[in-house]
Amino acid sequence: MRASFLFSAACGVALLGLSQAAWAWGPDGHRMIGMLAIKALPAEIPAFLRTPVAADEIGYLAPEADRQRGAGQAFDSEHSPAHFVDVSDDLTILGGPPLSALPETREKYDTDLRHVASDQYRAGYLPYSIIDGFDLLTKDFAYWRVDVAGEKFARTREAKAWYRRDRGARERILLRDLGIWSHFVGDGSMPLHASVHYNGWGNFPNPEGFTDAKVHVPWENVYVHDSITAQDVAAALTPQRDCAPIEKCTADYLAADQAEVVPFYRLEKAGAFAKATPEGKAFTAKRIAAGASELRDMIVAAWHASDAQSVGYPPIKVSDIEAGKADPLEELRY
Ligand SMILES: [Zn+2]
Repeated sequence: MRASFLFSAACGVALLGLSQAAWAWGPDGHRMIGMLAIKALPAEIPAFLRTPVAADEIGYLAPEADRQRGAGQAFDSEHSPAHFVDVSDDLTILGGPPLSALPETREKYDTDLRHVASDQYRAGYLPYSIIDGFDLLTKDFAYWRVDVAGEKFARTREAKAWYRRDRGARERILLRDLGIWSHFVGDGSMPLHASVHYNGWGNFPNPEGFTDAKVHVPWENVYVHDSITAQDVAAALTPQRDCAPIEKCTADYLAADQAEVVPFYRLEKAGAFAKATPEGKAFTAKRIAAGASELRDMIVAAWHASDAQSVGYPPIKVSDIEAGKADPLEELRY
């Protein structure tokens, strides 16, 4: 099982070119990120999301975006670039838009990249996978708030039952959306998913003599599987911090990840990943923990942002519904 997985991962790399096929962190790392983020959520987050069952579910779904690979040519060509972004050493995307000031939309990002002879498919669009998933989670939370308030203020038994049923559906949808999205937040803590040096240093100035060997998959997959435990990662979680606005938070997160590219190659050169040295283990656990910490903080930020949302058409403010000033039942039900 394991041998065939590694074989298929290696084949994918060889056939498609690494930047389109790498599986950041492998299933073990992604699972740890999903589970540990949920376990670390603060008490202000709705209780349905803080259960051991929810942590297990998110952990289970976290590797899903990698399992979807190979669904078909149309799917893969669109979704494979969602997992990475090729950040140059000057913190631009291949000489195009700077990571710290990315365009608001993926369409504009793609247009800007075409001005420097690239595009979103070659450069990767990981920042937008993260922001797009955040937006969707925010909307899911908004509907959940509406369902809770609707049930509370409902004037008829039928209306109360409708809101209760809708809340149950929303909780399932939210867990699914969050689980799929958690993968991309996790990709953002893998330094080789945010760098032009994504599989060996490559054809760039190389004064420190870093390796050109295909180091990506062996580190993210075999090494993590053999050497890193959830306990190692849990011990390296960082304190909770505010994440807003999401665009800046995402850019800062990916810049911090890219800043670990040179330290990774220095450790690799020192042999830290050939065997699991304490330095190599600590570095890897810290990177995976950065993913779990960021996922936790982004979930909290989405919860906070959800009270400014509206639902229905014409739009009804969630805050008005929660205050009992408006009832969107007819807009939502029909
Ligand atoms: Zn990925």
